[in-house]
Amino acid sequence: MRSGFPDFRLGSVLATSFTATLTERQGNAVERIPTPQRLVDWLAVNGLAVASCTPAQLDLARELRESIHAAATAAATQDALPASAVRVINDRSARGRASAVLTPEGRRRWQLSSDSSVEDALSVIAADAVSVIAGERDGRLALCASPTCRAAFFDTSQSRTRKWCDMNTCGNRQKKARFNANRRGKPSTAE
Ligand SMILES: [Zn+2]
Repeated sequence: MRSGFPDFRLGSVLATSFTATLTERQGNAVERIPTPQRLVDWLAVNGLAVASCTPAQLDLARELRESIHAAATAAATQDALPASAVRVINDRSARGRASAVLTPEGRRRWQLSSDSSVEDALSVIAADAVSVIAGERDGRLALCASPTCRAAFFDTSQSRTRKWCDMNTCGNRQKKARFNANRRGKPSTAE
């Protein structure tokens, strides 16, 4: 990872990994794809390598990201899906050409129509969002319990009781906060 930029949060679900390129949405938001090159980096890490990205394509990506976030949040809270978000997701899904192909090892790989097609990569992300929001996949959309985050995430745990979008960050912080609060509440045993 390039130094000087915040790391990516990698999840197993493409659409919500993508919305997690903006973290701490309800606090001091951290933009993890601040430049076109950072989007190129994120796509490469997520199996959607493209050769380049323009500022306009980065804008399209961010528009899709916020639309997925809005629609996934509505789905998680069982609200009506925002029409504008649905339109953006559908447009992006329809405007790319990507094929799912099998590798010799039997894994799925995305093949984009050309090296420079950010639109193709975005169509794969949009289609992933469609399948998650439509409830086609085994799991449940939920919102992170961290008050400064509230990210929509896809809970695939057996019990469907996951509380945080990411155990290593939001989950850990919450645990530490609880631990410190407990310590403060007890008389000191030091000295
Ligand atoms: Zn979170």
